[in-house]
Amino acid sequence: MSEKRTKYIFVTGGVVSALGKGIASSSLGLLLKKRGLKVNMIKCDPYINVDPGTMNPFQHGEVFVLDDGSETDLDLGHYERFLDQNMSRENNVTTGQIYNTVITRERRGDYLGATVQVIPHITEEIKACLRKPALSNPDTDVIIVEIGGTVGDIESQPFLEAIRQMALESEPEDTLFIHLTLVPYIGTAGELKTKPTQHSVKALREIGIQPKILLCRTAKDLSESIRKKIGLFCNVASKYVFPAIDVETIYEVPLRFHQDGLDDAVCKHLGLELGEPDLSDWENLVSRFKNPNQRVKIAICGKYVNLKDAYKSIIEAFIHAGIENDARVDLIWVSSEDIKQYGADKFLSDIDGLLIPGGFGERGVEGKIEAIRYVREKNIPFFGICLGMQCAVIEFARNICGLEDAHSYEFYADTKKPVIHLMADQEGITNLGGTMRLGAYPAVLDEDSKSYAAYKTNGISERHRHRYEFNNTYREMYADTSLKLIGMSPDGRLVEIIEVVDHPWFVGVQFHPELKSRPTKAHPLFREFITAAVAYTVKKNGSEVTSVSDELEPAGHTREQY
Ligand code: GLN
Repeated sequence: MSEKRTKYIFVTGGVVSALGKGIASSSLGLLLKKRGLKVNMIKCDPYINVDPGTMNPFQHGEVFVLDDGSETDLDLGHYERFLDQNMSRENNVTTGQIYNTVITRERRGDYLGATVQVIPHITEEIKACLRKPALSNPDTDVIIVEIGGTVGDIESQPFLEAIRQMALESEPEDTLFIHLTLVPYIGTAGELKTKPTQHSVKALREIGIQPKILLCRTAKDLSESIRKKIGLFCNVASKYVFPAIDVETIYEVPLRFHQDGLDDAVCKHLGLELGEPDLSDWENLVSRFKNPNQRVKIAICGKYVNLKDAYKSIIEAFIHAGIENDARVDLIWVSSEDIKQYGADKFLSDIDGLLIPGGFGERGVEGKIEAIRYVREKNIPFFGICLGMQCAVIEFARNICGLEDAHSYEFYADTKKPVIHLMADQEGITNLGGTMRLGAYPAVLDEDSKSYAAYKTNGISERHRHRYEFNNTYREMYADTSLKLIGMSPDGRLVEIIEVVDHPWFVGVQFHPELKSRPTKAHPLFREFITAAVAYTVKKNGSEVTSVSDELEPAGHTREQY
């Protein structure tokens, strides 16, 4: 009996960045999984950072933390959400990691005096990383490898060379190259233009890669003649030139791809004969997203309000929670510095809920604390995530417990009242790479709580990414107040969830629930936060539910590039 061979699909991108390779790759992954295949995904990032953990979210978007504590690219979030499958550190390969391994080996003398070069040493290490998930899980049918960057970039060349070699070393039906490209519509000429695609495929062919399938990002559908033209100039059969047309929600992309026959074409190339995928759960969630029967307005108050990618998973989690509540969630982004300057009432008077997301650094903290005071006093639902929980603890200490100078050690190291501090074993750490509490940790919930009602279990596991913690010295102080410590680490040392119990819905969590929300299974706390926001708006407007009209776009990725 011949051994099972894992097949590889390599997805490259051309013309411009941000075409949505991550969404396209994840959508294909979902379709193949729904056809019964065991699918895994790898993101190759051509930057020299070992991981994105130390990168500025302004430049790079959110850092997606996995159960195993690895800090990864935000595309891993799409992989987990579309495939409903947890990823691990093997699923994100960076140039930094590759060079780190090769240089360590060289210093150890493992290369026995050889000159260490990009070809073959770097490319061999890339190939080893791409093969690793297949070796750890030999029953994997297909691995989709997404190459970050754009064809023609200097940085991504070793990755492209490595995948060229992998195809050469494999049976023809065991690898497939898919190229995602842009076919822009030039309004003044009234035409779709194919030239950028021709050039980008030419660049790929020059390095020995001939894509078999083209996915063309386009605002207008591709006519038969355009597909023929692209096919002819790019040496691709025109039936394998697929449109990747702009859609209303990213969760519609797999449905469109399937309608267009993309998964059929992929299976044909890989010599796989499989039945039709059952996409009914995805059809259902897209239809619920498009037909909400109520609407809530949630404010997100953070530092990076102009860069939505920094809060990618939170936006997605709201979409999932909206779908489960049949509600459209309108997100408004409020700068915490503006709140500090102009007051909370100016920005928050008509909201149905406030979320304070995670964050680092002192900037804007006072505005967040002010926003929390406002919603606590006005009984508006509140959800604090990580830094958001820490700010809620500070706000309560200052305004209810009378500890006027309560602070976090992170923002004011000289504070006499550090209600948020560093744990003793973390003090003295100066190296910022990988020194945080990272990854999945268990927590035990008090059964008399909103969180327990949401999770319906008292044992949970959630992902963390922070340095500072609730200071246990102040437990006594909170004991007689309405701020309750309702989620703790199993050894009782670390506070994981707080709730203010004389409020309709006021929950703060030290972890990042957004990282575990899935389109087919909204995170319980996001779901219940939106339920509370709906209840709040219903109460505010009498029994009437806010009508849904079209003057505002719903929250999230409407019209967003995928
Ligand atoms: N800056 C805070 C800490 O390090 C919160 C981190 C976060 O919100 N992810 O503890």
